Amino acid sequence: MKRNRIRITGIVQGVGFRPFIYNLAKSFAFTGWVFNDSSGVEVEVQGSVADLEKFRKDLRIKKPSISVIETLDNIDISIIKNEEGFIIKHSKREPGQFVLISPDLAICNDCRAELFNKQDRRYFYPFINCTNCGPRFTIIKDIPYDRGNTTMLPFKMCNICQAEYEDPGDRRFHAQPDACFDCGPGLTLLSSDGTEKHTDNIINETIQLLQSEKVIAIKGLGGYHLACDALCDAAVSKLRSRKYREEKPFAVMFPSITRVKEFCEVNREEENLLTGNVRPIVLLKKKPGTKLPETVAPKQKYLGVMLPYTPLHYILLTEFNGPLVMTSGNISDEPISFLDNEAKHRLKDIADYFLLHNREIFMRCDDSVSRIFNGKEYPLRRARGYVPFPIILPGQSDISVLGCGGMLKNTFCLTLNNYAFISHHIGDLENLETYKSFEDGIEHFKRLFSITPELIVSDLHPEYLSTQYALDSPIKNKLAVQHHYAHVLSCMADNKLSNEKVIGVACDGTGYGDDGNIWGGEILIADYNGFERFGHIDYFDLPGGDSAIINPYKTAISLLLKSGISDDVILTKLFPDLKSEFKIIKNMISKELNTVKTSSLGRLFDGVSSIIGVKRKINYEGQAAIELEMIADEDDTGQYPFDLKKDVGTQLLLIEQIIIGVVNDLLNGMSKNRISSKFHNTIVEIFAKGILEARNYSNINQVALSGGVFQNMIFLKKLIIKLKSCNFNVIIHDNVPCNDGGISLGQAVFGIFNS
Ligand code: ZN
Ligand code: ZN
Ligand code: FE
Repeated sequence: MKRNRIRITGIVQGVGFRPFIYNLAKSFAFTGWVFNDSSGVEVEVQGSVADLEKFRKDLRIKKPSISVIETLDNIDISIIKNEEGFIIKHSKREPGQFVLISPDLAICNDCRAELFNKQDRRYFYPFINCTNCGPRFTIIKDIPYDRGNTTMLPFKMCNICQAEYEDPGDRRFHAQPDACFDCGPGLTLLSSDGTEKHTDNIINETIQLLQSEKVIAIKGLGGYHLACDALCDAAVSKLRSRKYREEKPFAVMFPSITRVKEFCEVNREEENLLTGNVRPIVLLKKKPGTKLPETVAPKQKYLGVMLPYTPLHYILLTEFNGPLVMTSGNISDEPISFLDNEAKHRLKDIADYFLLHNREIFMRCDDSVSRIFNGKEYPLRRARGYVPFPIILPGQSDISVLGCGGMLKNTFCLTLNNYAFISHHIGDLENLETYKSFEDGIEHFKRLFSITPELIVSDLHPEYLSTQYALDSPIKNKLAVQHHYAHVLSCMADNKLSNEKVIGVACDGTGYGDDGNIWGGEILIADYNGFERFGHIDYFDLPGGDSAIINPYKTAISLLLKSGISDDVILTKLFPDLKSEFKIIKNMISKELNTVKTSSLGRLFDGVSSIIGVKRKINYEGQAAIELEMIADEDDTGQYPFDLKKDVGTQLLLIEQIIIGVVNDLLNGMSKNRISSKFHNTIVEIFAKGILEARNYSNINQVALSGGVFQNMIFLKKLIIKLKSCNFNVIIHDNVPCNDGGISLGQAVFGIFNS
């Protein structure tokens, strides 16, 4: 007989850890206790030596799937206590300490079984949940995480629910959102003018509406979705035109993984990601020849797919028995609606009906978007299901830092000790509403995790609203970090690198450079303390600045002129419709009027896409570059000649020969697919050459790849293969996106190392 005291830290609270320990201890007939305190879970167990050892093993193997054990310390206590049974003791709270909060979790298998069991008292109850699943982050208003501090406050538990909640042996022990038909939230169906549709079966009624091509706004976990029949071209087109979303792909929710496989290729890792308890939208390769209309995801090889993650989704999808478009409830680029009154107002011209419930959403949180690359998850948008779990930083820090992020795909990041709390995807900080959600989000995170930042870090761009926020902040210590350096730092921190030097490759859309130009095709030599700009894509002009981003043909003209393509060829062969505008653009460039210089790879992709006629004007971010990627053939090995040059110590990647090659092929009638393939291969080769030069210069063998262009799978894959063949050690993102959603982490880490 022995007694052990075990301290466990990590993500062990609000994830069903105490009931798990309670039941495990009971299964060994141990005596003792378990409680939560401010930094983790403490257990004392008494039993035979062999059983105690088995218990510690089981702790790690059988722990709740969402929990993460960071440390597990065990000490033998010499005393043996005379006690009866095993108990869960009250939590201890120390002021100023914080507790990790669970993200919203997809409905678990146990709850799903009850949901579809006619005998169960929660049969078809759309808000069923338990200790292992259900809403968390989106309903928490304040700490500690008790029902009274969530939006479940108005719902008083019935006696049966209360008994479950209080029974340590029940799987709803201390499940704060626990509820049932008798005591919990319920559904309402409204027409778009706000009148309630009285029906004795809201679900059946909703299904019939979906079957008759209607668009329904459905209140979910972190906001509203707009839903319609994904197999009905007319319904999808109607949704597109009402939402002012011309071509940006929609996500689709399928009733089951079996149904997903009818439409998409799914490998084992993708299946695990789709069916796990996070349930992001996963980008999957479309199968050819399915019944899915092209309007769902025009010109895409991939489809954003998710499985139901709330009980309501399961009920709807099972009854509808087919895929539904489930896109965020907003008009074009506004943030997703999450408050009932606001949604009813903003979505009334898009949705025909509203399927509402009366459990308030406190924190807006979009669906996460992810994909599998080389057998591992490669995140694209980190939100529901991930947030607010922290990223574990490589070292302890005694200063708390707030990284304010960029402008597009904004997130912010607050650090405490060795944790980086990266916010959910906030969106593009271009309108007041998104900006407000950014400000509110920061205050909410500060409160939830008891963080008082002592240093604020922003992007270098003076006009980003996130930079303005930092400048106006009462926090006295301020730093600004160059955008692409922040991308590289983010990739380093994401891979838990200690402070070592890397060759940081930032391939991106746009970011403000140290020299006032727009960077985005950068080879940096960097560590956490600073960077040297070793090389970059040779500058070219962006006539009209931001206007060239939505009108890539302007970039195209600029690239053609820089490469010495004659006016005659441009006007007669390439852009015959642009006669008058051509002069203006040419004039802007030669006189440097309203023109900025850029080294952006994203813009180079845009320009080439436009030159070969794939996309000349875009209606969503990155569209021209994305469509250029979609037509490339991965197996094609052709490429264009290219050149590099040293200019006052800086390695320039020259683009003229590449553009000349593209134009020659085009004029010779080569297919766009082949030109795009050759262009991709050439960009891989020219960057590989630049990176080799950086190694020769610095003797560094570790390459970190970051920036939005690394969402291009062909470029990413081929560059990694090429670099590995040159014996480089390559790191890519793991927990945070390579796009601007990741830069707040890089900013925060810079703050920690340079405070
Ligand atoms: Zn459950
Ligand atoms: Zn109840
Ligand atoms: Fe960026």
